[in-house]
This record gives sequence, C-alpha cells and structure tokens, in this order.
Amino acid sequence: MVTLGSVPERLARNRYELDEGESHIQVDQDAVRRTGCGPLLVAICSAHVYRLEDDGSVGVEYAACLECGTCLAVAPPGVLSWHYPRGGCGVAFREG
Ligand code: SF4
Repeated sequence: MVTLGSVPERLARNRYELDEGESHIQVDQDAVRRTGCGPLLVAICSAHVYRLEDDGSVGVEYAACLECGTCLAVAPPGVLSWHYPRGGCGVAFREG
C-alpha cells in the first residue's frame, strides 16, 4: 500500500523559486475594504498566502503560492491582479 502522507508533508516536497523582484499577486486594498472580501481570501487559500491585517487590509506572502487560481475564481472583480510568476520562478511540484 502506498501512503501519500499528510497535506503539509506533501506540500513540503514542492520547490519554490522566488522572484524577489516582483510579486505576481497585487491586492487593491480599497477594493478589499469596499467588498469586505478579506476573510474570504484568507479562508480559501490553502497555502496561507493571504493574511488579514489589523487595519482591515490583506497582506500577501506570494512566495508560498501554489498557482492554483482559486483566489482568482472567488475574489470580487477588481480586488486581485494576478499573473503567473516570471519565467523560471514559482512553484515546482514534486511527485511521490
Ligand atoms: Fe493561494 Fe492558489 Fe491564490 Fe496562490 S493561486 S494565492 S495558492 S488561492
């Protein structure tokens, strides 16, 4: 029987090449406050990229992004500007 391990164990197998010069995720903080979507972004991201700040804004730790696109699917229009990391950067998934 093959065991796949826990989600954290499986995520730990991934490799990340960080683009230190540019975040591939930008958040329009005015749109976050207007729509109240901050808690939603925090809740839906399994990689914990988003965090809710005390002032109601949303912080971004883009280095951990799995590039799944879920946040793009659920965020109200105008909240996120998201593109894949520049060439050679981002997540590399490992099997096994
Ligand atoms: Fe999180 Fe996926 Fe959005 Fe990346 S693309 S920030 S992993 S929900």
